[in-house]
This record gives sequence, C-alpha cells and structure tokens, in this order.
Amino acid sequence: MDRSKLTRNILIAMVAGFLIGSLIHFMALDANSFIETYLVGGLFYIGGQVFIASLKLLVVPLVFVSLVCGAGNLAGHNNMGVIGLKTVGLYLLTTALAIVLALSVANVLNPGLGVNLAEATTFAAKESPALTQVIINIFPSNPVKALADGNMLQIIVFAILLGIAMTRAGEQGQQIRASMARWNEVIMQLVLMLMQVAPIGVFCLMITLFAKLGYSAINDLITYFFCVLLVLALHFLVTFSVLIRFLVGVNPLTFYKRLLPVMAFGFSTSSSGATLPVTLETVEKRLGVSKSISSFVVPLGATINMDGTAIMQGVATVFIAQAYNIDIGMGGYLMVILTATMASIGTAGVPGVGLITLALVLSQVGLPVEGIALIIGVDRLLDMSRTVVNVVGDATIASIVARSEGEFDDSVFAQETRSMSASNAA
Ligand code: ASP
Repeated sequence: MDRSKLTRNILIAMVAGFLIGSLIHFMALDANSFIETYLVGGLFYIGGQVFIASLKLLVVPLVFVSLVCGAGNLAGHNNMGVIGLKTVGLYLLTTALAIVLALSVANVLNPGLGVNLAEATTFAAKESPALTQVIINIFPSNPVKALADGNMLQIIVFAILLGIAMTRAGEQGQQIRASMARWNEVIMQLVLMLMQVAPIGVFCLMITLFAKLGYSAINDLITYFFCVLLVLALHFLVTFSVLIRFLVGVNPLTFYKRLLPVMAFGFSTSSSGATLPVTLETVEKRLGVSKSISSFVVPLGATINMDGTAIMQGVATVFIAQAYNIDIGMGGYLMVILTATMASIGTAGVPGVGLITLALVLSQVGLPVEGIALIIGVDRLLDMSRTVVNVVGDATIASIVARSEGEFDDSVFAQETRSMSASNAA
C-alpha cells in the first residue's frame, strides 16, 4: 500500500474509533451488555493490546541496533562530539522553553484557584527516586539485564559505547558493523509489516480508550485541562513552527503533513517508545533526514526528549501550588525548570509515566505530592495529546541537526510533495 493511502487509512481509523468509542461511552450501556463484554472488553481490547505489544516488541531491538549503527557512523565523522552535543543541547533547550511557556501561561490563567482539596488526601504518593540515583541508574552494570528490562537510558549508553568501539576496532569491527546494518534493514522491514495493519490497531485502541474515558472529571478541572492543551498547542504551533521554518528551512505545514502518521500513533498509543518505529521510518523516508543522523538522534529523543510531558508538569506545578495556596517564588520556578527538564530525561516513553516523575518535581520545590490526585482524573486524554508533542519534537530536532550537518535531503521532502499532489489529483 502506498504511503499516502496508509496515512489516510490510519487517520480514518483514528477518527472512526474516536466517534464509535465516544458513542458507546455516551450510550452508557450495561457492563454485561454484548457490546461492552464482547466488543469493547473483548475483540477491540485484544486487538489494541496485541497492536501495542507488537509495537513495543520492536522498540528494544530497534533502539539498540539503530543506535549502534548511528553511533558507529558518527564515530567515523570527525565531528561526532559536536553532533552529540548539539542533539542533547537542543533537546534540553526546547524542553526548558516548553516549561517556561507552561509556567507563564499557567500564571496568567491560574488553573488552581478555588480547587476543592478533599480528593487530594486519598492519594498515596509513590516514592519518587532521588535525583542522584536517577543519574547513577543511567549507567548499566549488566547490558543483558538492561535489554531484558527495556531500560532505555542504559540501552542507549551501552549502544553508543559499542558503536564507537566498533568503529575503532578496525577490520574486525567493520564486519560487526556491516552485520548490524543488515539487522537494521530487517528490523525496519518488521516496522513496515506492522504499519500495514496499523489502521486496525489504531481503530481498536481508540474505541476502547474513548468508550471507557471518564469525561466527568474534565468538568471539575476545566481550566487546568484547557491550560495544558493550550500550552501544548502553542509549543507545537509557535515554537516548533519557528524552528522548522528558520532552522530546517522548510514549510512547517508540509512538515506536519508528513508527520501525520507519527502524530496518529503518538495520540492513540500515548507512548513515544511505541511510536518510535514509525517516527524513524517517517523521518528518514518522508522528511529526508539521513540515516546516520536519524538513527542516532531519533531513538535518543524518544527516550530523553519530552516537551509535552514537561509542559504538563509545569502547569501541574502551578496548579498544585495554587490549590494548596503555597507560593514557591521565583527560586521555586527556576527549580521547576531545572528539575522538570531533568525529569523529562528520566521519563520513560510509555503511558502515564509523566505523572510519576511529576512527584520528583513537586518534592524538589516542597509541594505536596498528594496534589497529583487532583489531576489524575484527566490525565489519560492529556497523556495522548502531550505524546504527540513529544514525538513531533523528536522529528523537529532530528531535522535541525540533519540540516546543520548538510544531511537533510530536500529532494526526499520535495518528492513526497510531488507524489502527494499526484495522488490527490488522481
Ligand atoms: N506518554 C508520554 C510519552 O510516551 C510520557 C508521559 O508524559 O507520560 O511520551
């Protein structure tokens, strides 16, 4: 199936799943009814879960092989250090910008004024790890365990070191490098196979999510909910568009059009990790980022770059401070920028983890962690939306780094435009 048709089918599946799921929700069927038991809780649930499991299946081998190849290629480049620094620097900078935007807008809209605190007492906060331990945990002592546990930060460190060593090991290393490149091709083929059934998977996921989503919580938290959505939209439409226009030098609208399947996957799976196979494919084949840049920058971003998550954490911090009537002051805000940027590195790209690392941010600025109970009710929908921002951020930075290294192929970007207009005309 050609790409534009596949994108169209994924989007149709997403909208259809949303509409049918919402319809089932509002019909408020009996929990034992046929639709609830055999369709929502049976067929569609199984379809969605199998789809997510298959996406996740690809993540560890994909990140590992792709980063070994990426780091290996870069190690041959004489400015590997510069590319690495540029990538991490841009990831951190955009995340910090996202939090500043979140704190500013939240301070204007005041989402936490007049909130009822009764719910917060019922929340048993999970222990958040200390920042020192978070840093130590990045370094693997057992690579097999890291791979088996899917510990992405440890896998990244191991893969990068292995890639560099491979390039330095001369002829012997060359052979392993060639076989890794072959593995990379095979895994990308698996990604393509999965993409063929993606419309069905997305449809099942969207139906089960929206059939079960609790909308009533949104009423009580309407300002918080829309404040997070507003900042996500601003960061997406303003920050990213400016970066794409001026640092990548292409039309942001066309850029977003290319990324539609990535956004649809991010939204329906709520997981940057599960979306990674699609992000990699799209960034290479539809945007024109070279393999050597994308295979390094994109898997790294799916793990450490979470602008959308940081935005939620910024707004949530202001919300909780206001709900408890605690003034954290300017120093507190600076601390939020620092810890939320760090927390986004430690946030795994799976659903809902942003709320757990929020505990780390709150405790650093002396806010009650129980406050998380206040926002949990609306987090599912926000998680879906912030994951879209997380994955688009990865693609944007990958394109910027590629452009600055002369590794952005304008003919791929343009070719896609031609093939799209041809298929529209047909
Ligand atoms: N679901 C988000 C992601 O995978 C992480 C989070 O904010 O919970 O990007």
